[in-house]
Amino acid sequence: MRKKIVAGNWKMNKTFEEAKALLSEVVNMVKDEVTGDVEVVLCPPMVYLTTSRQYITPGGRVSLGAQNCHEKASGAYTGEVSAPMLQSIGVEYVILGHSERRQYFEETNAQLAEKVNIVLEHGLKPIFCCGESRDLRENGDYMGYVKNQITESLFHLSADQFANVVIAYEPIWAIGTGLTASSAQAQDMHFELRRHIAGQYGDAVAQDTTILYGGSANEKNAAELFAQPDVDGGLIGGASLKSREFTNVIKARQ
Ligand code: PEP
Repeated sequence: MRKKIVAGNWKMNKTFEEAKALLSEVVNMVKDEVTGDVEVVLCPPMVYLTTSRQYITPGGRVSLGAQNCHEKASGAYTGEVSAPMLQSIGVEYVILGHSERRQYFEETNAQLAEKVNIVLEHGLKPIFCCGESRDLRENGDYMGYVKNQITESLFHLSADQFANVVIAYEPIWAIGTGLTASSAQAQDMHFELRRHIAGQYGDAVAQDTTILYGGSANEKNAAELFAQPDVDGGLIGGASLKSREFTNVIKARQ
């Protein structure tokens, strides 16, 4: 059985006081209101991760994720954060290949393959983001483009390694724009990605792979998106910054 996950990507938002308030609100609401087997991953900015851990019960429903990490384990990379550092403070997941990092920091599929490797080597789980631009969606082979992102960054892994990877399909045209993929568009892509994974690793692995949808998901549209058979949860940006709304999104997946 694949995991249901709702992850919140806070991006570069919140002061320290605001971050602590949001953490404590979300953790309490999840404890009081969420049932079922959904896992919640909170991805605050790096600088708050150590403090965030104090709000989280180890082995519980809520875990911590980072928004990125460097592809090397240590060294002269001023300003960067490594996978072993994240592992040493109790982080469990790392978002890799978010479209903002691909766009503004020029991360490539090859570099992301290295990041995936270092994250897995240190016992962390990558939330690997993929997705097409609006131009590709309207004029190109968007399905082939997204499959290729997965091929180039993930298909060198063994099946055992791949079992620790979470995929997040995030069409770039839907991120932060208020334009959500329709539930049918999300389902089509997730179904094809699962088939692509089955082609490489076999059906059992593909059926066990968690594939999240991201892109303007919120408390109004989450239930319909999550009702699709191949949509296993969400990677949530804007709506994860409000405790009530984020908890409602989680409840739509429980
Ligand atoms: C994201 O950036 O991962 C995301 C899905 O953002 P939003 O929900 O704000 O579109």
